[in-house]
Amino acid sequence: MSPSKIRFSELVGEQTRAEIFATVLTAGPISRTQLAQRLGLVPSSVTRMLPPLLENDYLREADTAPQGRGRPQKMLHVNPDKHIVVGMKIGPAQVSGVVTDMAANVLARAEEAIADCTPETALSAAAALTSRLLSEAPEAADRVLGLGVGVSGHVDSASGICRYSALLDWNKVDVAGPLREATGLPVVVNNDVNTLVVAERWFGQGRDIDSFAVVTVGPGIGCGLLLDGALFSGATGLAGELGHLPLDPAGPMCSCGRRGCLEALAGDRAVLRHLQDAGVPCATISEAVDLARSSGGSAQTVARSAFAEAGAALGRGLAGMCNLLNLQKIIIAGEGAVAHDLFGPAMSQALEAHAFSTAARDCDIHVDPVRHDLWARGAACLVIRDAVGAAIS
Ligand SMILES: [Zn+2]
Repeated sequence: MSPSKIRFSELVGEQTRAEIFATVLTAGPISRTQLAQRLGLVPSSVTRMLPPLLENDYLREADTAPQGRGRPQKMLHVNPDKHIVVGMKIGPAQVSGVVTDMAANVLARAEEAIADCTPETALSAAAALTSRLLSEAPEAADRVLGLGVGVSGHVDSASGICRYSALLDWNKVDVAGPLREATGLPVVVNNDVNTLVVAERWFGQGRDIDSFAVVTVGPGIGCGLLLDGALFSGATGLAGELGHLPLDPAGPMCSCGRRGCLEALAGDRAVLRHLQDAGVPCATISEAVDLARSSGGSAQTVARSAFAEAGAALGRGLAGMCNLLNLQKIIIAGEGAVAHDLFGPAMSQALEAHAFSTAARDCDIHVDPVRHDLWARGAACLVIRDAVGAAIS
């Protein structure tokens, strides 16, 4: 059934069931009353939503020992052994994956470098890595729920197609079809930063926060949004392309072929270009980071101002997003986040300078340390979320 054919009440029901499962996973063991309170639901709604999750053994309910003179309470918890799930991130230079249980605990992880990122190479590497990961859990071969895949760019999750990725140079690439055929598993595909949003929501900095963004910095500027408690993908999965916010019509060319996008002003290439133009060329961004953190000299001053300029552009982009969405938190992640000491102060300053009313004050900025398997773990969570939402066994 296409999403447009699903009745609205069914869609709300699926979302609520997925939220119930995620809350039990992150806050459990938890009583029905506590669960209703945390989700802002009336207890009868929770009672109505629980049977498919309990009957299909996704959740279990057990008595706890009485505390003091209180009666024993029935507490809900996730059944971690119901299924195992594979999560995968496809990047330009490597594919990385995890196997998790239903509580999103990582049971195995692996990664594989790829010689190029053509769809053929990347998808066959992802299929091979899936087999390798599953071979590490042979006892669970009949309990594999599915494969979740995160890919950069504009991903239509309903069809499993990557419509466009500047980073991978992909146009209309069917990701789900070939992987389904190669692995024999149900496949869920989403934008890779969206997989991080789900991971942060379930067990990271986004717990108990209903409106936040994950912004990844590095070669590209990515963004995923959770608005009013739900992943926000927009009409066709394009939402969150913060990196292509047009900030300067006279600015440098962007990887998307347009001029002056935020990514062209704040991504790694912007920093390297600044250094090149100032006569202090650096071959890699880590070389630029080392130079900016070195002890003194004019080259260090140039490197520091390159990061500050990128940070200021990022801050203007974040201000635009905060003014539009009134976010509670922005989580800065991605490989470039390690240079936060260099771009962070200028970023915060520009965010405050361009924020309307209390938009900057309302929004906490949090820098997440680099955790490589979080992307793939988030992709596994997408499979779990979809399955418990639909409550299929
Ligand atoms: Zn662009």
